[in-house]
Amino acid sequence: MRRWALSLLAVAISLSFLPADYAADQPAGASVEKDILAHLDSIEKDLIDVNQDIWTYAEVGLEEHRSAARLVGVLKKAGFRIKEGVADMPTAFIAEYGEGAPVIGILAEYDALPELSQEVTGTKKPAKGRTAGHGCGHCALGTGSMGAALALKHVYDKHKLKGTIRVYGTPAEETLIGKVYMLLAGLFRDLDICLHWHPGNRNRTYYSTSKAMVSAKFTFHGIAAHASGSPDKGKSALDGVELMNVGANFMREHIKETSRIHYVITNGGGQPNVVPATAQVWYYVRANDHGDAVAHFDWLKDIAEGGAKMSRTKVAMQIDADCHEIIPNLPLSRLVLRNLNKVGAPNFDDADRDLATQLQTALHADFGLKDKKPLHDEVDELPPAPYQDGGSTDVGDVSWHVPTAGLSTACFALGSPGHSWQNVAAAGSPIAHKGMMVAAKVLALSAVELMQDPLAVKDARADFDKRMKDRPYTTIIPKGQKAPKAIR
Ligand SMILES: [Zn+2]
Repeated sequence: MRRWALSLLAVAISLSFLPADYAADQPAGASVEKDILAHLDSIEKDLIDVNQDIWTYAEVGLEEHRSAARLVGVLKKAGFRIKEGVADMPTAFIAEYGEGAPVIGILAEYDALPELSQEVTGTKKPAKGRTAGHGCGHCALGTGSMGAALALKHVYDKHKLKGTIRVYGTPAEETLIGKVYMLLAGLFRDLDICLHWHPGNRNRTYYSTSKAMVSAKFTFHGIAAHASGSPDKGKSALDGVELMNVGANFMREHIKETSRIHYVITNGGGQPNVVPATAQVWYYVRANDHGDAVAHFDWLKDIAEGGAKMSRTKVAMQIDADCHEIIPNLPLSRLVLRNLNKVGAPNFDDADRDLATQLQTALHADFGLKDKKPLHDEVDELPPAPYQDGGSTDVGDVSWHVPTAGLSTACFALGSPGHSWQNVAAAGSPIAHKGMMVAAKVLALSAVELMQDPLAVKDARADFDKRMKDRPYTTIIPKGQKAPKAIR
């Protein structure tokens, strides 16, 4: 009894320090939650249609014109205020509803991946007429986030809530461009909380971190000549690229085991009998810590210069992205997990399990996949400490500026790797539809809880402040540089 009275007193004291427009009298509880879930059930078919459209468009980063327009169209019709083409990216947008504090952001992505065309079927079968595919499930990601915002708008009006709901339409996640340049343009400055989700193999909250990453292109310039008739009058830009790659492959041995370097040659010259006058290689350099990624990249720049010297060519460098690792947030991750447990894992049926089993078949044969179960149908517990994710995401940069948390839901077969044809197939199937609906519900429930509970926002902020102490955000993207116009 005494403890109860004390905590009431604590609530009263902390409320008195909150901004005046913070709704201390917002209606709590069950009817708002019920209305969110019912609204999402009522628009499920529309959301599935949007997912299927974006899945079919399969547009790669910075070319997601139809995908962004599809989401914007629905949000505009629902009454959201829209800003398109933000941060000098035609496919970036912000959709906002409501007013005042707290300002809750929800991240949406919608870019596809090159060379991953695939039908919705259990065996590898490229879809006719397109080369890209949604191997990361961003069709569901964007649509689920939009669904959460639509449900929030519905209860906002009905229950006269206060606060601002803001959907960030963030292009080119796969090349870690969208959020980084939106952030540099100051678009996340006034957010109180940011929520996100990602289609995955499991149902869990992201109490995790990711890898920091620098993305850069090195263009070598030489002199063209007849490769057989007058090789002594030529300087091969491709030699520069190859020597640089050899150097980078030796460098691998002397960086941390958890760091990663990968590249593709985007231009290797025209044909063998012409000494290539220009050649280009595109690098991703990753590390668990942003400082390490930048140090590795400094070394790589020296290697590029070395390649140029050895081949008597010149090299020019273009940094496209400098992305930071995710800063986890414990109170927010707990809040998201509580809501994920409330909604529960997706309710898969036999047809979903059959498709997932087929998708796993090649993985058993090629990679000795151990998972016997086709789909994750439980909710994972909170890990004892933040786990390290193998990939990178520009959600990381947002999380350096505002308390951020998210979740993944089962949208892919258990054990299937990211960026695989298996995941493209699942992303266009009822497996992903069910995972997406769970995510939309959890995001909306979490956001409305934050809108109604100032103490939860304060807790998230305190956790954020503690982790960000003596951790200034720095970037190696040249000051004032605009986002690239294309990914390659
Ligand atoms: Zn992704």
